[in-house]
Amino acid sequence: LVIIDSVNKHYGDLHVLNNINTQVGRGEVVVVLGPSGSGKSTLCRAINRLETIDSGTISIDGQPLPEEGNGLATLRADVGMVFQQFNLFAHKSILQNVTLGPMKVRGLSRKDAEEKAMALLERVGIANQAQKLPSQLSGGQQQRVAIARSLAMDPKLILLDEPTSALDPEMINEVLDVMIGLANDGMTMLVVTHEMGFARRAADRIIFMADGQIVEEATPEQFFTDPKTSRSQDFLSKIL
Ligand code: ATP
Ligand code: MG
Repeated sequence: LVIIDSVNKHYGDLHVLNNINTQVGRGEVVVVLGPSGSGKSTLCRAINRLETIDSGTISIDGQPLPEEGNGLATLRADVGMVFQQFNLFAHKSILQNVTLGPMKVRGLSRKDAEEKAMALLERVGIANQAQKLPSQLSGGQQQRVAIARSLAMDPKLILLDEPTSALDPEMINEVLDVMIGLANDGMTMLVVTHEMGFARRAADRIIFMADGQIVEEATPEQFFTDPKTSRSQDFLSKIL
């Protein structure tokens, strides 16, 4: 589904993505781990072209990422992104947050968009809050709305960049449960997270990054029980 081929990116002297090669297959759940500053967010952002790359190619369904114009709006609809900060429209209701994109980008009628939104809000457990504003919801609830909003576009894949890092501990699980549900339903997901329980349980594959490089790629079983590189051993010794 996604092919990342020899991708490089620099910020000045910093080689933030250093010859990245990997793929994400349809229905696959890939968890990206690595220390702060290793390039995880930059990689996510490159995949839906919030960042440009210096060389290499990223393609989705065999199509290179569009450079600009209408293609970009379609790309952002096809590739959902959920951030640490929920980035909901503050002055729109929860329901409007979820219906806006499908009406604007996918051309759904209001009625169809609302039906779909309500089904998705049901799925993430907040249908009863549909008329509220984001500020009236807890962080965990807002993040579940952000996930529902991505799903409303029928994305080919969803990128989640530390979706639980800004949440109070008691709200982390309600978001992880939604993510595990998506994974079990066959959604293609690339997830940057520090939640090792989620990584173990939901990932098909772990990508471990350090200094802009993919240092190790393994199944969770392999990665957590027998990490192959000193960088990954060091990383795991600090967090487990
Ligand atoms: P974290 O776990 O802290 O989120 P990360 O692995 O997501 O880290 P990135 O956000 O991808 O790391 O950043 C990788 C490196 O690129 C960091 O050293 C960061 O300071 C640098 N960087 C990120 N964005 C920019 C930018 N717009 N301009 C210059 N440097 C940047
Ligand atoms: Mg990051």
